[in-house]
Amino acid sequence: MNNEITEIVQNLLASPQKVIIIGHKNPDGDAVGSCLGLSFFLTSLGHKTTVIMPNDFPDFLKWMPGVDDVVIFEKETEKSIELIKHADLIFTLDFNSLDRVGHLQKVLEDCKAKFVMIDHHQQPADYAVATYSDVKMSSTSEMVYHFMDAMGHAEKLTKEIAINLYTGIMTDTGSFRFSSSSPTTHRVAAKLIEAGAESAIINQNVYDTNSPERMKLLGVALNNLIIMPEFHTAYITLTQKELDENNFKKGDTEGFVNYALSVKGVVFAVIFIENKQESIVKISLRSKGDFSVNDFARNHYSGGGHINAAGGKSSQSLNKTINEFITILPRYKDELAHAS
Ligand code: 5GP
Ligand code: MN
Repeated sequence: MNNEITEIVQNLLASPQKVIIIGHKNPDGDAVGSCLGLSFFLTSLGHKTTVIMPNDFPDFLKWMPGVDDVVIFEKETEKSIELIKHADLIFTLDFNSLDRVGHLQKVLEDCKAKFVMIDHHQQPADYAVATYSDVKMSSTSEMVYHFMDAMGHAEKLTKEIAINLYTGIMTDTGSFRFSSSSPTTHRVAAKLIEAGAESAIINQNVYDTNSPERMKLLGVALNNLIIMPEFHTAYITLTQKELDENNFKKGDTEGFVNYALSVKGVVFAVIFIENKQESIVKISLRSKGDFSVNDFARNHYSGGGHINAAGGKSSQSLNKTINEFITILPRYKDELAHAS
């Protein structure tokens, strides 16, 4: 974080403030971890802090320190609106544009608070008085550590903060496997472990809580895996019926797309998940090397993200979405052939 942004934020936080911290819709480990980590930190500096999420997050994150105090906008709409109305400062974490918070967008656009953005996604929007954006960062959780450090308060790292930030870094880097894990990421992780984040326990809490239904659904997903060697591409589909038959719960499909990406020779993997309630197909995209799924998601699925991990949606039927995907792919044949 550069000196200019540090100074702006230090001035904003010079006296006790009413602070709201917001993560993106369908919060993942990094959104929840970075928001909660920052919340514990700002509370320790004397600010009144509340974390609001646009909608609920998966059970495999519900053990994280501080989750019980998170306000879910979709469930507690009036309370959220009141809190935002009276806020002095709003930190937006782990997203780059206000259209990533669903129906909260309008509430945020209408409020009087000043915004601070901390985020690692590409193409940050320009709504904040301080924008700490760095697309090279492994995770927003890593950035919250650097934020604390820049503010001159690395010593305020408690066990609660460390556990939250470690969980965010771990989940966003696929347990330190993706190329976004830099030497600095590992140094930060070491500091978090020293401060009380127990890596083995956090791994167990996040990854060893599979329900029998999720395992069955994974079976269905793998059975539906289509590999297209000529495009170094693999994709998975899940229909609403398949989700219903396996008692789908939020978060159950998390990570499924990585199985498609783990096929030898595959550099581009996609999962298409039908969502009848929202009349959309939710799409998660992953890649290896320099094939940009951020660009692909922006160009075809009104989405975005990072070079190697992005998301988006289609309002066409699942069948139409797949047919269109298959028609688009040949345009990327050369790029895919040289990606890794
Ligand atoms: P996932 O596929 O795990 O949902 O998301 C992968 C990455 O893409 C995450 O960084 C996430 O924030 C981003 N992402 C997911 N869905 C969307 C979307 O609909 N729009 C944008 N702009 N980014 C998304
Ligand atoms: Mn993230």
